[in-house]
Amino acid sequence: MQLESNNKKMYLNKSHLQFVFDKNVLADALLSRGNDYQYTVNLLQSVKQQYVEGWVASHTVSILYYLVKQALQADDYNKEESQQIASKRIKEIMSFLKVLPQCGHDLITAFDEFELDYENYLITKLVKDYLPNPIIISQNKKFEGQGLTVKHPSDMTDKLLISLNQCDTHFVDLKQQQRQAFPNIEKNIKNVLVNCNFIQGNEVKQLEKKLAQFVGVKHCIGVSSGTDALLIAMMALGIQSGDEVITTPFTFIATGEMIALLGAKPIFVDIDPNTYNIDPNKIEQAITHKTKAILPVSLYGQCVDFDSINLIAKKYQIPVIEDGAQSFGATYKGKKSCSLTTIACTSFFPSKPLGGYGDGGACFTDNDELATLMREIRVHGQNKRYHHPRIGINGRLDTLQAAILLAKLDIFPKEIEKRKIIGDTYTQLLTKHCPHIIPPYIKNGYTSVYAQYTIKVDNRDKLIETLKKVHIPSAVHYPVPLNQQPALKTDAFDLLNAQELSSKVMSLPMHPYLTEVEQQYIVNMLK
Ligand SMILES: *Cc1c(COP(=O)(O)O)cnc(C)c1O
Repeated sequence: MQLESNNKKMYLNKSHLQFVFDKNVLADALLSRGNDYQYTVNLLQSVKQQYVEGWVASHTVSILYYLVKQALQADDYNKEESQQIASKRIKEIMSFLKVLPQCGHDLITAFDEFELDYENYLITKLVKDYLPNPIIISQNKKFEGQGLTVKHPSDMTDKLLISLNQCDTHFVDLKQQQRQAFPNIEKNIKNVLVNCNFIQGNEVKQLEKKLAQFVGVKHCIGVSSGTDALLIAMMALGIQSGDEVITTPFTFIATGEMIALLGAKPIFVDIDPNTYNIDPNKIEQAITHKTKAILPVSLYGQCVDFDSINLIAKKYQIPVIEDGAQSFGATYKGKKSCSLTTIACTSFFPSKPLGGYGDGGACFTDNDELATLMREIRVHGQNKRYHHPRIGINGRLDTLQAAILLAKLDIFPKEIEKRKIIGDTYTQLLTKHCPHIIPPYIKNGYTSVYAQYTIKVDNRDKLIETLKKVHIPSAVHYPVPLNQQPALKTDAFDLLNAQELSSKVMSLPMHPYLTEVEQQYIVNMLK
């Protein structure tokens, strides 16, 4: 196998393939048996070194154990020895191979469907259900003719791999990410099913503890969405009808919407033309005796200038709420987003930097009283069972979502690193090849998690169309500033920067598994 040779980097950048190993090639590799086992050993090595994903069906593992054990016994090992050796060798490869998801239903329904070979049918079905770019590694012809790519271990050359390695670019690739976090996601979901503690279960408490540690604050309160996090935070601060909350017009609707839902008035302050975040220099002139909070948004994954905002807030004794729905994991002068204000809110919407598999969110604070209030508001304003000193909402985070988020949190620090590298790579490529495109401006002392990689261009419609033609997805965040949304329409201060940006920004595909080859292609198309 030539993977070790010259093309490592190329290969690393194009690991969109999933090898699925048949039991026979694995048995040969584990027993150093036959003419071709070394090829399989090399392929396993490339999986171990994470150049490519390696998968097996769960029944492959049990049959493999039987095959290896029997072969060892035929080779004069006694029963106990052969069991020990077989399990040790299988455990070793299973430390880097992953098991295809499968439920009892798959095993049983396969009996109604297969024509030639039950096992073959089952593996084919599981592979087709779950893997986008599979190659079955087998010496056996039986897998052929099922619409899958089947290769003999000795066929796998660099050239073949690269030719097979065509993939679609996704705006956010949740499937690929899921395969990275397997099998912990599966294990955690199963635990919730076993325990049936669906509301406020142990996983919620565990997640809150880990997230508070991650961010570096005393309290994390898991809630039902990023939107509800904003609502609960403002309810805890007593914001109500007639109050004013200062915020940015250049954000997702939820920020302004929750202010309005409480009967308060969103006061929109224009954005900084470089960072696209609220301009701290324009906040003070918007403060009145009705101002009850400042609600800045750390847009696209970069924090707001919190030192300046906190200084103003302190002067006027008003709380600050960070909308950190897009910036979870970002840093500001060495501190984490969501640790910098009176209360901070984030979202676990699936496409956010830390996303669940449904709705979810969290509030963060160092303030004990506010934490207690938010916990009560989350459960109908209840302080003990069926006692309700105040009005609240049903705003809990599901145990199932918490379980999924716990599994995804394990890979999150690595994903933040990758996001940063991918963002920096885009910026380098664009600066070099597309002088007419303005990349995100990340300030000194800040790190972005690039919830979106958003560029500023003059000919947005044309570029979107060009990318669409070559199957590169893009999006606009956000085409209409909040002050112009019919639901929130206000006559506001001059909001010229927000106005201009809303007609010029577009976001490129961005997720931790985007490859440099894909990025180069995208930039070439933009050029
Ligand atoms: C996504 C988002 C929200 C809302 O989060 P949900 O979990 O979808 O309710 C709020 N503010 C901003 C800036 C967002 O990007």
